[in-house]
Amino acid sequence: MEHFRVIVRVALDTPLNQLFDYRWKHLDPLPQPGQLALVPFGKREIIGLIVAVLDHSELPDEKLKDALDVRAGLPPLREEWMALCRFAAEYYQRPLGEVAIPALPKNLRTAKTTSLERALKKIELLEPSTPGADVVRPTLNDAQHSAVDAISEARGFLPFLLHGVTGSGKTEVYLHAAESLLSRHGAQAQILMLVPEINLTPQLEGQVRSRFPEAAVATLHSGLAEGERLRHWLAAHAGRAAIVLGTRLAVMASMPHLKLIIVDEEHDPSYKQQEGLRYSARDLAVWRAHQLQIPVVLGSATPSLETWHAAQAGRYRKIELLERASRNAELPLVKLVDTGREKAIGGFTPALIAALRTRLERKEQSLLYLNRRGYAPVIACDACGWVSHCRRCTAFMVLHKPERRLRCHHCGLEHFIPKSCPTCGNVDVQPMGRGTQRIEEQLQDLFPEARLARIDADSTRRKGSAQTAFDSVHRGEVDILIGTQMVAKGHDFRNLTLVGVLNPDNALFSHDYRAGERLFAQLLQVSGRAGRSGERRGEVLIQTRYPQHPLYAALIAHDYRRYADSLIAERQQASLPPFMHQALLRAEAPQLETALAFLGMAAKAVSVDSIAGIVVNDPIPMTMTRVANTERAQMLIESVSRPALQFFLKAWLPGVRNIKTRARWSLEVDPLEI
Ligand code: ADP
Ligand code: ZN
Ligand code: ZN
Repeated sequence: MEHFRVIVRVALDTPLNQLFDYRWKHLDPLPQPGQLALVPFGKREIIGLIVAVLDHSELPDEKLKDALDVRAGLPPLREEWMALCRFAAEYYQRPLGEVAIPALPKNLRTAKTTSLERALKKIELLEPSTPGADVVRPTLNDAQHSAVDAISEARGFLPFLLHGVTGSGKTEVYLHAAESLLSRHGAQAQILMLVPEINLTPQLEGQVRSRFPEAAVATLHSGLAEGERLRHWLAAHAGRAAIVLGTRLAVMASMPHLKLIIVDEEHDPSYKQQEGLRYSARDLAVWRAHQLQIPVVLGSATPSLETWHAAQAGRYRKIELLERASRNAELPLVKLVDTGREKAIGGFTPALIAALRTRLERKEQSLLYLNRRGYAPVIACDACGWVSHCRRCTAFMVLHKPERRLRCHHCGLEHFIPKSCPTCGNVDVQPMGRGTQRIEEQLQDLFPEARLARIDADSTRRKGSAQTAFDSVHRGEVDILIGTQMVAKGHDFRNLTLVGVLNPDNALFSHDYRAGERLFAQLLQVSGRAGRSGERRGEVLIQTRYPQHPLYAALIAHDYRRYADSLIAERQQASLPPFMHQALLRAEAPQLETALAFLGMAAKAVSVDSIAGIVVNDPIPMTMTRVANTERAQMLIESVSRPALQFFLKAWLPGVRNIKTRARWSLEVDPLEI
């Protein structure tokens, strides 16, 4: 008798671009698509996502193995979520399993069934608490009001660009729109709120938590312990969490009642994953909203050019908040200090020193922004010209004085600071240029009485130390804060009235065509930290050798629009994104020739009938060719048509995968840096 069979077809986290069939012995209950199955794979047992349940397999019977377990305790992942994974897999040219499985919390992929059931019980037990009674709810101003109305009245798919100057109260708009949606839909609504880096914006998490019942807020980011991550993920998956607040990985959260997506600081590069599946959480957010026919809000004071262009072209609806929300809080006065005329001593011009002194006298806070950590970017010998190269990278070893080390920021190599020049023996080896540590040292000499704090990746290595440092700034225990881009984002410092920007010029002449856009965003953001309370107007001093540069002119005028429009025109002229769609094939190997040879073969794997409208550029070494003794090269593929590029990649990659090479390679769609 032919007996009934159950085959589960699963996606597994492997580089193999295929699905895998297994036998399932039991009939009752039948497994369902969206459930997780434990299956044997090689010598291991791993978790797969069931994408189909079939009654036969194309594989011969003797090749089929048995699935070991189906995680029946977990409500199946829904078709909507699977569709998101399928789209991401296709768009970024990855196997489905490599997208779907890593999007699940680790404990779901590894833990025993019992701990899953325990975690599921825990969410059932969560009792919604009431929000704090003393929560301050500012009355919305007119601009905020109409923004909230527009968002809450939206039906179906509607992408918004919420363009609001720094301090214009975008957060209030998000919170009110969320409240309005939740009250409209009741228990049947969930809202996804994405932020670039949760650890740098703890204020936002606090605000969200105090506005919404504690149990209704789930957070998802890489800083959570695995157990916590599972609990929060399950709360979202079970529809219990009304608000999911998270970093880019949260865009893949399973949320059965998703009704609104908010992407705060949508221009932020950290929305782009830089390894593995190199996805853009912002772009996936827009796709997901479209698929679900719900609104999505992209908020920023300095939107990405992609988003700005879409808004200008009418594809996104633009909402503007042109003024600061706090009463009387004007935008800061931005001034350029021409270092060609006013000589800087030890990095500080007299104008900046005077401005700092005034703040100290008035007991107001200042912020010094320098996007370079360490003491000095390089040390050098005057006598013979020796400089501290990293022997493993095309980069310098950076001097870290407090740690008494030279450190390579690219490969992590460290060694002692040489007492004399390694080539000529000269004892006078000097630091060149300055980073945050040196600025801190010089400030202490200039203002011995001032209380300083430095916030950068080095000073905040220990978990929680960034938070502690920010807290002490907020409590007023710091007079001058020195920091890298870590301090530029989101913080609402109430007593900070001066921002000094040191040495931002490098980015003006970068080979990276996005450097200008990024610098403008960073400077506007960091300027936006000044004068937020409205008691005194903030002042921003930018020390530059190029005071005539249009970027600075736009900054003084707080004119994002003018600068963005000029960049857009440049990009159109130069056929760069958003007028061009790109994919980057990267290869790395111990020898540069290996990497370049692979790219050369890949270029030949192009089939003629898929190439219409596609430009395959020559393979070239990357600007920073060597990192950690690995040589790196790349080849850029371009098209003015996104569908043509997608069509090409799909036809091309199977051939690339077949190339025999010792190079490691990866493909990135929509690369941020080329
Ligand atoms: P953004 O994110 O746009 O830079 P925030 O949301 O941080 O701005 O708001 C800036 C400040 O303005 C915050 O201190 C916030 O509490 C305050 N604020 C927001 N809306 C209002 C309002 N309608 N009236 C008064 N203050 C407000
Ligand atoms: Zn020397
Ligand atoms: Zn190195």
